[in-house]
This record gives sequence, C-alpha cells and structure tokens, in this order.
Amino acid sequence: MNQFLLEQYKQLGLSEEVIVFGEKIENGLKSRFEKIDAIAEANQLKVLCAMQKNRVSAECFNQSSGYGYNDLGRDTLEKVYADTFKGEDALVRPQITCGTHALALALLSNLRPGDELLSPVGKPYDTLEEVIGIRPSRGSLAEYNITYAQVDLLADGGFDWDGIQNVINERTKLVTIQRSKGYATRPTLSVDRIGELISFIKNIKPDVICMVDNCYGEFVEEKEPLEVGADMIVGSLIKNPGGGLAPIGGYICGKKECIENAAYRLTSPGLGKEVGASLGIMQSFYQGFFLAPTVTAGALKGAVFAANIYEKLGFKVVPNSTQSRHDIIQAVEFGNKEAMCAFCEGIQAAAPVDSYVIPEGWAMPGYDSDVIMAAGAFVQGSSIELSADGPIKEPYAVYFQGGLTWYHAKTGILMSLQKLYERKLVKLDELC
Ligand SMILES: *Cc1c(COP(=O)(O)O)cnc(C)c1O
Repeated sequence: MNQFLLEQYKQLGLSEEVIVFGEKIENGLKSRFEKIDAIAEANQLKVLCAMQKNRVSAECFNQSSGYGYNDLGRDTLEKVYADTFKGEDALVRPQITCGTHALALALLSNLRPGDELLSPVGKPYDTLEEVIGIRPSRGSLAEYNITYAQVDLLADGGFDWDGIQNVINERTKLVTIQRSKGYATRPTLSVDRIGELISFIKNIKPDVICMVDNCYGEFVEEKEPLEVGADMIVGSLIKNPGGGLAPIGGYICGKKECIENAAYRLTSPGLGKEVGASLGIMQSFYQGFFLAPTVTAGALKGAVFAANIYEKLGFKVVPNSTQSRHDIIQAVEFGNKEAMCAFCEGIQAAAPVDSYVIPEGWAMPGYDSDVIMAAGAFVQGSSIELSADGPIKEPYAVYFQGGLTWYHAKTGILMSLQKLYERKLVKLDELC
C-alpha cells in the first residue's frame, strides 16, 4: 500500500495493524473479485439493452402529478424492469413503500379466501410473520381465511422433498420462496436451486403461483428467478435495484396476470396500473437501475471481504470465506452483545452521514426482539448503502450489507475491526 493511501486510512482513525491485516486479506481475493466484475459487466449490458430497446428518452424523466394518467416515464420504466428481469410485465412504484409492502401486496392480491400459502424454505423474513398472520396482526392473510403451511429446510440446508410433496394440496395456491437468508443463518438460495425447487413443485401442481422474495438478490448472478420458472419476483428499491439513488419504492415483476392482480390491489379494482403519479422521482429510478449492477458488485466485494476478515479471526461467518454468493448479505456470529455492538459502531463510524452517532438497540416495528442498526445513509434505512443490523439475541449475529462503492464497504469493515481491536475483543498481532 502506498504511503498516501495509508495516511488517508490513518486519518479516518484506523490503526496500522488493522490496515495491514485488511490488505493481506484483500490480496488473496483478486480472482474472486474478477468473477464479481464479470457478472457486473454482463448485467450492465442487460440493463443498457433494456433501456435502449424501450426507447428511454428525456421525456421519461418528466414529472406527473394528480392521477398520473399516461405517465410515459412510469410505464417505460416498468417495461425496462420487465425486459431486464425477463418478466411479461412489472409494477415499479414509489407508492410501494418498502420491501415488506411489495411482498404483502403480491400476496394479498394473488390469494383469495380459502387458499393456502406455502413456504417450502422455512420461516420467512421477520416482517412477513405479521403479513401472513404467524404473529396475529390486523389485515393479515389469516384474517382473510388464507392459511399458511411451512416446510423447513433440512439440517444440511437441503430441500425436504418429501415434506413438500406431502403438504401440497388442492388449496395450495401460492408458494413463496425467499432467496436471501434474511435474519436466519441458513444458506442463501442460488437461482439454479430456486429453479430446481420450482420445477419440483410445478410437477406436482402446475398451476401454483411461485413467488420469489428477491430482496438483496438482484444482479448478484447473471440470471434472475423468472428465468428458471418463477411467476413473480418481488423486491425493494432501497436495496439492489435502486442502485442507491431511488429514495423509495418497490417492484413486482413477472406474469401479466399476477402483476395485474397486484396493480388492482395497489390502486383500485378497475384502475390498476393506469394511475399513480411519479412525482418527479423517475430519473432517480432509471439512473439507480442503470448503476445497480456495479453498485451491487461493490457491495458483494464488501461481503466477501468481511467474510474473509472475520473467519480468519475465528468467528462463524455465513456464507463462509469461500462459498459462492447469491445475495449481498454477510452474517457474522459474534456470540456476545459487546462484540456485536462494537461491530455496528464501526460501521456507523465509517458512514458519510451521521458518523458521529452511536447505534443502540430498539424495538423496531415488525420485529419481536430489540434490533440494533448501523446506517449512516443518504436514504433513510437504505440497505444497499453500507449498513449492519441484527436482532439482539442469541447467537448475536450481525447482518452486514451494502456499500455504494467497494472502497466504502472496505473502509466500513476495517472500521468495524478497529472497534473490536481497540476493545481487545480480537487479537491481530500474530496474524499480521
Ligand atoms: C429487506 C427484506 C424484506 C423487507 O423489506 P423492507 O424494505 O425492509 O420492508 C423482505 N424480505 C427480505 C429477504 C429482505 O431482505
């Protein structure tokens, strides 16, 4: 490392031991980073092609208000998403307030009373428990007499084929498959494994709707789940596909009928996709989507770097240092609150915004234990930006993600290590 760069890191408050250790780890990751770059390059071209094919023009960035009839920018963007992700249609809206909302919308609009929802990949993301009614809540699927069945993954992370076959019945209408691990320490599913699962399910029941919770998965691989048989993919624009620029939003992409159901529920029966003003944020949606492949690649490098750093220091990391990646999340199990909080303090201290605050646990809506979150983001709660969070309970696992650039992700990880090092929660001497 040259002297100038070393000085810059020191200015931020990093010790030489931490910097040197980080450099050593990074030097071992060159070939992994090359593969990540190759995927980003292919995905960049995919997005570019979709924008050219759909004749994206300066008019697309104009703002609409009121009903938003004939909003060229909104309608064209939905075609760009559909072409990029290989769906028939898409709903990409600022009126979809977050990922949970997008998922709730997809479920509540495509299920009817008497239907059953199945998760063949274990417990879904925490906030979906109230959507489904696993934890009772107003307006849940359970309140509408939509039942829920779940088949857990086997101990080795594999699918429980027999269990899935046994539970599918005449009422099974929709299958929800979460690509990312969420707040669980199970492996993330690759697009190919999702494809195997969907083929198996469609073989038993061809007309079942297969939905993939695609949060954190977009642009991590060359393929997306619609290319392996999914009917719907759902995600948040303050994660990967917003590229860090979208200030709000969610998307649903897939079969025309599924999207139509969702649009009729988001706005109103009869109105569907025809209304919904874009209020001047279209440029950020387009530009963010354009940048998303490279932003995602930077975040992915950060995750790989973090896994290699913390595994070397003796912590359990999921995925581990060498496993393939299918989302941008890195879990690190610290086993105690002190180390977990030190990690989060470091991430916060590395942020461009609110770097001077110290994160603390709080009872976040939708979660059943205190959650600590470190994020100094331009967009509130954006987790494509450098961020870390986790429920403060056993095994004290932190979920790290994001970084709008690889350099910032790297700095965040080094700063987290700095906090652990200063508190003597890790030893670096013999590793340097
Ligand atoms: C983030 C996330 C959600 C929920 O998204 P919010 O925007 O936080 O509401 C759902 N599922 C998964 C897998 C996620 O990562």
